[in-house]
Amino acid sequence: MEELKLIMDGKRLDGRGFDELRPIKIEVGVLKRADGSCYLEMGRNKVMAAVYGPREVHPKHLADPSKAIVRYRYNMAPFSVEERKRPGPDRRSVEISKVSREALETIIMTEMFPRSAVDIFVEILQADAGSRTACLNAASVALVDAGIPMKGIVTSVAVAKVDGQIVLDPMKEEDNYGEADMPFAFVIRNGKIESIALLQMDGNMTRDEVKQGLELAKKGAMEIYQLQREAIMKKYRTEEEEE
Ligand code: ADP
Repeated sequence: MEELKLIMDGKRLDGRGFDELRPIKIEVGVLKRADGSCYLEMGRNKVMAAVYGPREVHPKHLADPSKAIVRYRYNMAPFSVEERKRPGPDRRSVEISKVSREALETIIMTEMFPRSAVDIFVEILQADAGSRTACLNAASVALVDAGIPMKGIVTSVAVAKVDGQIVLDPMKEEDNYGEADMPFAFVIRNGKIESIALLQMDGNMTRDEVKQGLELAKKGAMEIYQLQREAIMKKYRTEEEEE
C-alpha cells in the first residue's frame, strides 16, 4: 500500500500551514429553553452546547451543602460519524465527559451556589477529530451565556505530530494517520493564559516536540479565545439593539 502523505510542500491536506486552525464559527444563545447555549463549528466538527442552572439537584442526595455540583455530558449523535455510532454512553464518552467536567469545574464559582447543580450537555452532530476540544469551547461560551459566575474562560485545542511535524488543530486524517495527538484546555483569565486544565496525549513525542506543541497550542487557544469573546459580545450587542 502506498503511504498516505499528510504534508506536501509545507502544506497540510486541507491547505493549512502547520500553525493554522480550521475555520471556526460560533453562535451564542441559540436554544430557547436552555439557560445558556452555543452552537460551534471547528472545521467539520459541529456541536451544540446547552447549560442549565444553577438549579435544584435531582436526585437530591447528590447535592453538596458547600458548593454546586457540575455535570457534563459529551454525547455523539449516531449520525455524527461515518459508521453509525451506537447511541448512548460508552467508555470513551464517559471518560471525555469526566475530564471535560473537571476542566470546567476549575473556573465555575461553585461555592456561590451550594446545594445546586450546573448541568452542561454537549451534543456532537458531526465529528471530525478534536471533538472534545470543540465541545469544551462551546460549553465555555454557553456557561458565559447562562450568566454562571466564572473565574475565567476555558479554551481548548489539540496539536498533533504528522509526518514528523508538529501541527495545530488536527483534522480526522491527521488524527488517524499521524504519530501523536495532544489535546489541551487552557484557563484564560483577563486575556492571558493562566493554567492548563486538561492535557492528554497518545502516540509518541520527544521532550522538544511536547514543548513545541505546547507553544503552538497556546497560540491557537488565544485565537479561539478572541472568537469566543467576539461571539459573546455580538450576542449582547444585538440584544441591546433589539431593546
Ligand atoms: P476527538 O474527537 O476529541 O479527537 P478521538 O481522538 O477519540 O477524540 O476521536 C477522533 C475522531 O474519531 C472523532 O472526532 C470521530 O470523528 C472519530 N470517532 C471517535 N469515536 C468514534 C466512534 N465510536 N465511531 C466512529 N468514529 C469515532
